[in-house]
Amino acid sequence: MNPLNLHDSYPCPVCRIGNTTPLPLMDAMACDFCSQIFTVDLEKQQIKMPARQPPLLWNWNGKHWQDAQLEGVELGWGYILAAIALVILPPTLIGLVIWIHPPVAHTPLFWLPYVWAGLGFLAHLGIIVWLVIEFYQFPLRLWFRSLPQQLRQR
Ligand SMILES: [Zn+2]
Repeated sequence: MNPLNLHDSYPCPVCRIGNTTPLPLMDAMACDFCSQIFTVDLEKQQIKMPARQPPLLWNWNGKHWQDAQLEGVELGWGYILAAIALVILPPTLIGLVIWIHPPVAHTPLFWLPYVWAGLGFLAHLGIIVWLVIEFYQFPLRLWFRSLPQQLRQR
């Protein structure tokens, strides 16, 4: 167990690649890789990313950061179920229609419902992935750029 303090460096909870090191004379830390700045609450053993509203929080449990939270927002199962429903439902509905009224093969556009179901699935999945990336402010571009470096370390 190693309580959060302003002398050590910690793995960055945003990019998970860099280290956050304390900024001199401030209750704050900055990542040496993605340059995110965090404010530190030693009493709550918590850091906050003020760059976005509402701020994202991480709790230090002595070994690693616990899942990001939006300040004042609980991300519960309701959201996860809603996300799954959004991805699964539309293609399922289209699939059901195809199943009830199968398109006659070799007629013009008989493939369209199948492609439509696939596109519906991909589009909704894309929305969820984009929301998650947006929510965590995950620096996707930096992460891809650091891939060779990460692979070499393994
Ligand atoms: Zn970082």
